[in-house]
Amino acid sequence: MRLVLLGVPGAGKGTQGRRLAARLGIPQVATGEILRDAVKNGTPLGRAAKARMDQGLLVPDDVVIGIVEERLREPDAAVGFILDGFPRTEAQAEALDAMLARAGTPLDRVLEIGAPVEKVVARLSTRLECPVCHRTYNPAGAPPRDGVHCDDHPDVELIHRVDDDVEKIRKRIEVFHAETAPLAAYYAKDGRLRRVEGLGEVDEVTGRVLAALAADADADAGKEARA
Ligand code: ADP
Repeated sequence: MRLVLLGVPGAGKGTQGRRLAARLGIPQVATGEILRDAVKNGTPLGRAAKARMDQGLLVPDDVVIGIVEERLREPDAAVGFILDGFPRTEAQAEALDAMLARAGTPLDRVLEIGAPVEKVVARLSTRLECPVCHRTYNPAGAPPRDGVHCDDHPDVELIHRVDDDVEKIRKRIEVFHAETAPLAAYYAKDGRLRRVEGLGEVDEVTGRVLAALAADADADAGKEARA
C-alpha cells in the first residue's frame, strides 16, 4: 500500500500513520521528523531548514522533494509506505506523482483526516514528543504512562516542540490552508482521495481509517474479479 496522509497539523496524521504502519508492515515516512532529526544532528540540511521550521514556515520544495525521493529509494519502502507531512504543496504533489510514475509504483490512496481548527490548536499546544522515536503524547487524551517519559524509551524525557506554541501553531495552520488544503481537490479529481473524521478517541479514529481503506480494498478486489 502506497498511501499519503493529508490533514491540518494536529489532525492525527502522525498518530494514525504510526499505527497503520505497524499494522501494514510498511514504513511511515514523516518529513517533519526527518527534518527535526537533521536539525538535532546539526547537518547542513538541518542548519538550512531550522529557521523556517521554527517559524512554522515551509522548507523549500526542492529540499523536501529530494529528501523524500532518497527515502523512498530505501529497500523497506519497496513494499509500500505511508507519507505523513508530504506533499504539502502542489509542486510537491506533482513531483511525487512524477517520481512514482517513473518507478511504475503509483499511489494507491490519499487519506484526509479532518479536524476543526480550535481542536487542533488545543491538541498541539499541549502535546509532548519523544525526541528519539517522535511518538507524540497528549496529557489530556493520550498521556505517557509515567507522565514524563516516552513509554517506548523509559530513559528519555518528552519534549515540547519549539513550533508548538499558539502563535506558531496558528502560522502553521495558516500555511496549511494556503498551500496544502488545495491538495484535497488535486487528489479528489482522479478519485484517489478518501476522508475520515479525526475527532474522537485514537482507537475510534483508527477504526475509521481501517474501514475506509478496507472498503477500497474490497472495491479493488471486485474490480479485478470483474476484469
Ligand atoms: P505539523 O504537521 O505538526 O505542522 P510536521 O512535523 O509535519 O508538523 O512538520 C514540521 C515542520 O517541518 C513544518 O512546519 C515545515 O517547516 C517542515 N516540513 C515538514 N514537511 C514539509 C514539507 N513537505 N514541505 C515543506 N516543509 C515541511
